[in-house]
Amino acid sequence: MNIHEYQGKAALKEFGVAIQEGIAVDTVDDAVEAAQTLTRETGTEWWVVKAQIHAGGRGKGGGVKLAKNIDELREKADQILGMQLVTPQTGPEGKKVNKILIAQDVYYPGESDTSEFYMSVLLDRDTGKNVIMYSTEGGMDIEEVAEKTPEKIFKEWVDPGTGLLPFQARRVAFNLGLSGDAYKDMVKFVGKLYKAYTGLDASLFEINPVLKTSDNKILAVDAKVNLDDNALYRHKDLAAMRDTSEEDPTEVEASEYHLNFIKLDGNVGCMVNGAGLAMATMDIIKLAGGAPANFLDVGGTANAQTTEAGFRIILKDPNVKAILVNIFGGIVRCDRVAQGIVDAYKNIGEINVPIIVRLQGTNAEQAKKLIDESGLTVESAILLKEAAEKVNAVLN
Ligand code: GDP
Ligand code: MN
Repeated sequence: MNIHEYQGKAALKEFGVAIQEGIAVDTVDDAVEAAQTLTRETGTEWWVVKAQIHAGGRGKGGGVKLAKNIDELREKADQILGMQLVTPQTGPEGKKVNKILIAQDVYYPGESDTSEFYMSVLLDRDTGKNVIMYSTEGGMDIEEVAEKTPEKIFKEWVDPGTGLLPFQARRVAFNLGLSGDAYKDMVKFVGKLYKAYTGLDASLFEINPVLKTSDNKILAVDAKVNLDDNALYRHKDLAAMRDTSEEDPTEVEASEYHLNFIKLDGNVGCMVNGAGLAMATMDIIKLAGGAPANFLDVGGTANAQTTEAGFRIILKDPNVKAILVNIFGGIVRCDRVAQGIVDAYKNIGEINVPIIVRLQGTNAEQAKKLIDESGLTVESAILLKEAAEKVNAVLN
């Protein structure tokens, strides 16, 4: 799950990570009040207005602006609130800005006295360890740094069993070229950041930039925080931070039915039980000359209700030319699933795309019979090859 910058920073702060302080608001008047509060609490003279959307590159798209007095702040908050922000990560249609973060200016007195670093924490599946990736080349496109000057990206692997060891945090600060107070503060920053990463059950932190201020403090200016969905059950407060307006609406609906659904851009909808079988089915669709319109794993307990929800969600996509249902009846009984399909079909009413159903496993023959005799325009198959041929026939 993704959260906004302001939520990520609040979560980091709970673990003692130093951040650029700010207050999230959704009106211009509240923005002015927030700015005044920040000045009272931090002494800041200037502020930054930052669009809160689930995408990076906001600065480039005009979603991050400095304000040097209250009139400017009012003007910039008004510009950014409600704008359709296009960044390299949003796609051409952009994302609507419903919330802004009013943050203290931390680049005082000028950018030449500060240094921007890049730092991320993530899981490295190859080594089974967490890895802290960091670079002196912060504030810019890290993909570009990785491509053009890969030697400027450092990695510190952390064994999840031992956690981050003090010498590792020191190595990070050293490699970033720091000394004195800034060095000490960076050691502390890295330690807290790693604790926050494990404490939040995060799957990714990307802090770009981590800033060294002119008075040698280290703090997080930006915070991209991804949380591990599988651990959300033990972080109710974090789960409540979900902003569904930032997500694909069909994926949100699917999650309400506990369906694992990912929208893709092909023409054959598919509904499958089990993620492995779903992936194999997507390959079969490709082999048959189509392209999958989605990934959908209905799980091990496919019933009439989830089947119907699955159909409805798939049918929302106008690109869908056919639907392939591929169920392996191991624990589930194929005839039950077949009945679910027939019921769903009747409940939904108008389904104008051909449906090919392949059921294999327990009671597959009865299931096929049930579908063939239902009087619906549903084609059934037992062999996957047969199902693929039927998909092919529909597409050509
Ligand atoms: P992103 O563009 O979505 O990655 O958003 P960031 O939070 O990283 O902000 C983009 C850029 O805004 C940063 O790299 C800084 O150059 C600038 N910025 C952020 N905070 C401040 C600030 O307090 N003062 C000034 N002058 N610039 C800032
Ligand atoms: Mn950034």
